[in-house]
Amino acid sequence: MRVFIAMFAHETNTFSSLPTGRREFEARDLRWGGELLEAYRGTGTCLGGMIDVAAARGVTLVPSVAAAASPAGRVTAALYAEVRSRLLADLRAAGALDGVLLDLHGAMVPEGLADGEGDLLRAVRAAVGPAVPIATTLDFHANVTREMVACASLLHGYKTYPHVDMDARGREAATRLLEVATGRLRPTVAFRQPPLLPPIAGQLTARGPMRRLYDLAGEMERDPKVVSVSVFAGFPLADIHDAGLSVYVATDGDQALADRLADRLAATAWEHRRDFLHTAPPVREAVARALALDGRPVVLADIADNPGGGAPGDTTEILRELLRVGARHATVACLWDPAAVRACVAAGVGATLTLEVGGRVDPAHGAPVAVTGRVRTLSDGRFVHKGPMFRGLEGRLGPTAVLDVNDLKVILISQRWQTLDPEMIRFVGIDPGAEKILVVKSSVHYRAAFEPIAHAILEVDAPGLSSSNLARFTFTNVRRPIFPLDDVALG
Ligand SMILES: [Zn+2]
Repeated sequence: MRVFIAMFAHETNTFSSLPTGRREFEARDLRWGGELLEAYRGTGTCLGGMIDVAAARGVTLVPSVAAAASPAGRVTAALYAEVRSRLLADLRAAGALDGVLLDLHGAMVPEGLADGEGDLLRAVRAAVGPAVPIATTLDFHANVTREMVACASLLHGYKTYPHVDMDARGREAATRLLEVATGRLRPTVAFRQPPLLPPIAGQLTARGPMRRLYDLAGEMERDPKVVSVSVFAGFPLADIHDAGLSVYVATDGDQALADRLADRLAATAWEHRRDFLHTAPPVREAVARALALDGRPVVLADIADNPGGGAPGDTTEILRELLRVGARHATVACLWDPAAVRACVAAGVGATLTLEVGGRVDPAHGAPVAVTGRVRTLSDGRFVHKGPMFRGLEGRLGPTAVLDVNDLKVILISQRWQTLDPEMIRFVGIDPGAEKILVVKSSVHYRAAFEPIAHAILEVDAPGLSSSNLARFTFTNVRRPIFPLDDVALG
């Protein structure tokens, strides 16, 4: 058996002014051919899971491309066209194939296109013809469209947020693909899009409406006729027609069953729509509460400036408040500011300097803050994720500096990356467990690795491009009416 494999992933925040081009993909991942297998084998990723199954089943993988970038603004037309055309050229050159495995995100918005994955899947389907099965993993935040559903044989969404089941979904996609390829499975699918745009911080799967939906999905999957059930929470900050929650049910040759289950899940999501709404205390209140707690560390989650949701990762409101109150034994992880890193590198370890940090990208969400501190550490920014997310995968933060402002440590990084792993603090010589306060720039993913070490977690409603307060944004393209934007109209 020969199976084509590729990854092309981006979560696009259309409210961001930072375009995502070749440089941004190179900073995270842009690999061609066999390098894909070397980089992802054994990692806690979709590709890692797919590669495992292929090895165990004696399947020959035909690797094409692994392209991913940190979430930000639209993917440039040039980068999108380059990856798409190389992937299609590889597909045409691959010869006879028994299947196609794609690791896509599902919320990619290239310049001039609303639905990147729909466009890509349509082209892949056209290249391989109707008979070759295509199985695709999609992020929990995918904004799934009818085009994606029509062009792929099977979609497999992550069932967890934080996303700790990527390798399991990769394994599932590969296993099901082989069943379709050998004629043991005939997928029939149903897709529903209730008018729901859940904010990010209300989507976690440990509790709340997504837990309820996935418990229900788990019960449904016990029926051997049910192939897989995905409830996509959607990515609300991609202002496209199809943004929001969707339900996808695949059964083995039973369309009526797929329809019935999808209807039930969509109705359940709608019924519990108010449980998705999310509130957090403002900056001053959150910092005061954190400082008043005994025990350490207290995690202050800067949920609105999450680079994983397309925010810059450079807002300063929490840092400014920590400076104002003179917080010590505190670490801000991580603030994206390549210019500040360069200044620290020029000054050298041990030097004291005064400079402005952060607040450079998006004046609507805060200004730079002036600090005087000592350069405590310099690093090339390379670390290895310890998981649960991305376990074993190398992380690259670019040149990194730790600026110590009277025991308030600011980790300054040059490549944007969500603070989802305490390794991002440990690798520069700070023990996260010994700090009183840890500020992390992340909406939900930090929970997977920080909850086990945190004394307490406080979410903060600071300004930012990944805010869960959707009233802060002006939507023009998403289908209307939709909850919660049109709460009144929908009744
Ligand atoms: Zn996601």
